[in-house]
Amino acid sequence: MSRYFCHEHPDVLTLATRVIDARPGAVVLEASPFHPGGGGQLTDRGVLRWHGGEARVTAIEAEGDRLWHVLAEPIEVAGAVEAVVDPEFRRMMTALHTGTHILNALVFQKFAGALVTGAQLNADSTARMDFDLPDADNDRLRALEPEINDVIRQDLPLRYEWLPTDAVGAEAGLMRCRSVAPPPSADGTVRIVEIVGLDRQACGGTHLTSTGQSRAIRILKIDNKGRHNRRVKIGLGAG
Ligand SMILES: [Zn+2]
Repeated sequence: MSRYFCHEHPDVLTLATRVIDARPGAVVLEASPFHPGGGGQLTDRGVLRWHGGEARVTAIEAEGDRLWHVLAEPIEVAGAVEAVVDPEFRRMMTALHTGTHILNALVFQKFAGALVTGAQLNADSTARMDFDLPDADNDRLRALEPEINDVIRQDLPLRYEWLPTDAVGAEAGLMRCRSVAPPPSADGTVRIVEIVGLDRQACGGTHLTSTGQSRAIRILKIDNKGRHNRRVKIGLGAG
């Protein structure tokens, strides 16, 4: 799990930095406020500005520890730049991602430690989570909607720590994904996200600072996708 600038500075969405490597239509920055996506979370949207120009960042491609910011135009950029994350998109993605943690926590607690088999967040404020829930009743899953919104109303704070990989393996429930464990960072630690009083798990994404910042969450749909794959679709409510 790489350490990103946005892990330490989630509120910094505009950053004066400089290009340290470039090719036509892509740059590596000395520091970047962009979250590159991963684990179901979408890449931040935004723009790169320089003296006399601006281009949209359309994708971020990881090459080892380096993040190539792919631009909408095949231009070559050098020197001082300003990297600007789209605040609306970040806010929505962050709220939706936090919502998936609340859903995941409640499923884990109420369905005997059921694990996640997949997750995908979407730009339309919806997300799907797949759980290994062979015997669960869909009505019991639907009944989680008011409980999710109760967690939002409780306004529980979120906090972070980096734990050594060994400690992560020793604490039951920190690894919530059935198939993929996030790789440790270069220093051998894994980022733990805690919704205080509710849940702790390994995650490298962006989250709200407390659950009360989220709009209400609706459970939109539940599908059985094979015996070991129950798909729960959620969406952020209006307003
Ligand atoms: Zn997360």
